[in-house]
Amino acid sequence: MMGGVCKMLKRPSKFEDVVGHTHLIEFLKNHVSGGTLPRFLILEGDEGLGKTTIAKLISLALCCESENKPCYTCKTCTDIMSNVIDKNMETKNVKLFNMSINGGKDSAKDVVDNFNLGVSGIKTKVILLDEAHAMSDAAQEVFLVDTEYLPSNVYVILITTNSYNLIPTLKSRAFSIKLNKLKKVDLMILLKDIVRERNLNVQGGDATLGLIADWADGKPRIALNLLSGFQSNSAVSADLIKEFIGYVDVDDVIDLLSYLGGSMTHGLMYINSLHLSDGILDICLEVLKIKKGLASFKLNMDDALKVRTKLANVDEEVLVKFIYEFAALVKVNKRGLIASFIKAHPMYSSLVDFNPSILQEELQQKSDLVLEEPDYSERKAPTMESLLQNGSIVEVF
Ligand SMILES: [Zn+2]
Repeated sequence: MMGGVCKMLKRPSKFEDVVGHTHLIEFLKNHVSGGTLPRFLILEGDEGLGKTTIAKLISLALCCESENKPCYTCKTCTDIMSNVIDKNMETKNVKLFNMSINGGKDSAKDVVDNFNLGVSGIKTKVILLDEAHAMSDAAQEVFLVDTEYLPSNVYVILITTNSYNLIPTLKSRAFSIKLNKLKKVDLMILLKDIVRERNLNVQGGDATLGLIADWADGKPRIALNLLSGFQSNSAVSADLIKEFIGYVDVDDVIDLLSYLGGSMTHGLMYINSLHLSDGILDICLEVLKIKKGLASFKLNMDDALKVRTKLANVDEEVLVKFIYEFAALVKVNKRGLIASFIKAHPMYSSLVDFNPSILQEELQQKSDLVLEEPDYSERKAPTMESLLQNGSIVEVF
């Protein structure tokens, strides 16, 4: 998927559809209509910001046949809208090259062969080079002379996530435009449009959408892709979103760790209700830093205060032991978390001294307990209830 900065799931086919990048769009429109846009451009920005979409909109504006560019109604405009923008297919006016596929010197020569209006009768031509950073140095050298002497009405736009890979001599010939990340407020506008369009039932409103916006870190495509995973008319809850993005609440992790200085049983019950994610380990490490009196750049002052108060009874060694066990897990699952928790808990040594056969006898005396292996056929982590019920928790000890 290429484009991203769209008001609707459909890619924006007009400058007016682009959310955010307000100053850039204004700048582009002014220079296109004034005929003052440099003919060799570099469009740089992180993945998912909509660089390719904006490059296509620039192409459309440049090629428009009307006085008032872009008109979106002339033959060239509609041609570019339906082919280049909607289908990622080139037209007589707009040529598309992906340099991650054609990054070598020979393909660079093929590209340069396009640096003219030819005999097609078109008035303007735009050549888009996507993933331009993938070009070899030799390929870039090929462009050096020809980008300096571009015929009038022939434009070349290099699209890249990282212009460091471009040779300085080539870069110095181009006019560079850097795309910034979107503000959260702009991402929220995009997300709300999708919600409306797909009639999604968002539980928790803005706070739930805010989770997506925060996680997407200013990149519209990332945010939209997540929401596109939901079917029309379906419910979108904070829990589902958290599951998708592997979100971990710092408070949850602090609460979990607090049980390492308290009741093991309550801790196990808490784990049973905990939302699992790979992110737990990162937060544990940050908590350890705070316990050691070091600065954490990920946790805020409030979190640090909670660590100091809620984890006052948790020994640093216990915390390290827990992290050691937990980090060794191949995959984060409830069973592994339970095992790590039990092994790190100060009560563990008394459990090890305890003879499991006594517990086994005690369990067997209670005839209502089913002593069966838990059913893992569903590949879901067993629940705490099932572990306690069928006695398999004894194995862990
Ligand atoms: Zn037009």
